Amino acid sequence: MNVLAIDLGGTSSKCAVFSAKKAILCEFKVATKKEAILQHLKTEIDEQLTKYGIDWLTISQIGFAIPGFLDEKKGIVVLAGNLNWHYFNITKEAENIFQKPVHIINDANAAALAEYWDRIYDKKESLLLYTLGTGIGGGIVLDGKLWTGANGYAGEFGHGGHFQDRFPCTCGLQHCIEPVSSATGLTKLINQVADEKQESSLAILKSELQRDLRLVDIKPLFDKNDEITIVTITEGLIPLADHIVTMLYVLNPEVIILAGGVTNLGVKLKQIIENLVKARIGEFMLKTFKIEISNLQDKAGMYGTGYYALSKIKEVE
Ligand SMILES: [Zn+2]
Repeated sequence: MNVLAIDLGGTSSKCAVFSAKKAILCEFKVATKKEAILQHLKTEIDEQLTKYGIDWLTISQIGFAIPGFLDEKKGIVVLAGNLNWHYFNITKEAENIFQKPVHIINDANAAALAEYWDRIYDKKESLLLYTLGTGIGGGIVLDGKLWTGANGYAGEFGHGGHFQDRFPCTCGLQHCIEPVSSATGLTKLINQVADEKQESSLAILKSELQRDLRLVDIKPLFDKNDEITIVTITEGLIPLADHIVTMLYVLNPEVIILAGGVTNLGVKLKQIIENLVKARIGEFMLKTFKIEISNLQDKAGMYGTGYYALSKIKEVE
């Protein structure tokens, strides 16, 4: 039997059909409409499955990755801002529309599961995934299993605590890591520095482009070790490093994985985070600390959702 994985995004959704042996039979993207999201998805997926010659009868389970807070046990979306869902019983509605058993999983949690499977060859049993995009999400795999928490809220690394005093968070708290160490936060910081330091390389670049700087704009400066660029990005990554350190001491995972748009800054970004973390941990922790950039990147959510749905076949069988 096969499973269908759907990684729901605010503007488009990535879909794939997986065989029981975790092979991808087909993979495609469909638009996420603003209204009647599930009904439209079904119509578009129908067309794609016909195109790839895949019979609905071969699909036994459907997995949905959703960006938001979920009650996975009850199958309810507690809050998914981008999709405008609040206490929405997606499982019931999707099962009505698709006529198949439906399982939901947080998108970053799904990505963490995919990273686990991607490393199965080196027998890693525990990992933490940080997704550094518009916001900051995460996932926790312990003893080879995804840990979603008592209520399904585990892995929300972006929020809570007192990690910075620069920018307030959209979640309502003041000191979360997300408003500074996410792509949005780092972008805000580099523009702030460009405005404050008139003669700096960042200010010159901003006046050349005649618009706000994006992370992709500053990559050449970053790669060339431009001092102000490196100092600014490093400052922005300190809250993230402090968070990673806390998690290392709490869970002692085998590897920390970084994913999301910020990691397009590449290996130097990894080195900066690695050095910040190393300066904050003791000797015994230093010996085992390992950090990597994701190989799967934006496909991780879709892979993880497929694996999650496949695990449900096994439970049913
Ligand atoms: Zn927050």
